[in-house]
Amino acid sequence: MSRPELRIDTDLFRANIRAVRDRIAPSELMVVLKDDAYGHGLRWAVEAAKDTGVEWYGSYDVRSGVEARRVLGDTGRIFAWVTSTDEEIDDALRADIDLGVGSAEYLARITARAAHAGARARIHLKIDTGLRRNGLLPAEWERTVADVRAGEAAGHLELAGIWSHLAEASDDEDDDAQALFLDAVRVVEQSGPTPEALHLTASAASWWRPELRGSLSRIGAFCYGVRSAEGPDLPGVTPVAELTATVRKIVDGNAQVGVGSFDGIPSTLAGADVGTPGGSRELLRIDETTSLVQGWPGMQIGDSVWLFGAGEHGEASATTLAERVDSVGEEILTRLTSRVRRVTTP
Ligand SMILES: *Cc1c(COP(=O)(O)O)cnc(C)c1O
Repeated sequence: MSRPELRIDTDLFRANIRAVRDRIAPSELMVVLKDDAYGHGLRWAVEAAKDTGVEWYGSYDVRSGVEARRVLGDTGRIFAWVTSTDEEIDDALRADIDLGVGSAEYLARITARAAHAGARARIHLKIDTGLRRNGLLPAEWERTVADVRAGEAAGHLELAGIWSHLAEASDDEDDDAQALFLDAVRVVEQSGPTPEALHLTASAASWWRPELRGSLSRIGAFCYGVRSAEGPDLPGVTPVAELTATVRKIVDGNAQVGVGSFDGIPSTLAGADVGTPGGSRELLRIDETTSLVQGWPGMQIGDSVWLFGAGEHGEASATTLAERVDSVGEEILTRLTSRVRRVTTP
């Protein structure tokens, strides 16, 4: 029996990257790769992005960063921002991965591991600008910056960046966060040279709020063509992945297709529009390994049905599906299980 397929279009991914790059210039693009490149596959994403000349990759963790490094070879910069174990720090130093640092404790461990290895760790210091999730508080910023400069003088560290992450809940809050961020940058500039990378914004703020962009923008969703929930479609940005399944049986004029909740489709998506050879049809029910789709004229066993995609066959996008269940498009993609076969175009 044929399994559902996540078909991933490499040309569309490259086109999205170009559209994002044009939009955010002169800010530079960091392609974010977390959650196995939002369910598309990390190796594929790095190879394709490398072809378009992307320099920066955001891997989230060191393990994924090491995988990205295998694809990139000696080229490109990789940024891993989750707090890591000492063993992972050692791996990061060997693989020339930049580390995001959001606590004095982590900074001390990185400095110690770099000293031990006789290496210079490249770090990006994170100021907490309101999210309260892994970041130095303004009150401890100046002291920590002094520690970083001491680590630089001793040859163990290089301050390559300053960064934070926005809530993207309201423009006012993001403006306040930027003010804190710029204060933190000023403190760093008073203590020594300005780091090469200043980064604050992800997809939505990078696209819509040019005044918030730093020299670098960390962008995942829009590169994969996933628009923001409740946000508009974006010119030149197209969903890269489509989920297809085939008709296995015809039941009372409806199509039973081979994809279900075991593949990661939430059963609460019943009622959504899916694509068929006859155009848009209602997804009537989702069971464990099959779903029922409203029939169309001439439907046959073996026909394809599109659960989500770019809309060519009347299907909704992952984000449109997500909006039905108060979620985000990324979530629909990353929930897909290993039962779904990933197929990529060259
Ligand atoms: C996920 C993430 C991003 C990318 O967010 P998108 O909205 O997908 O562009 C950027 N920075 C950090 C720290 C993240 O966790």
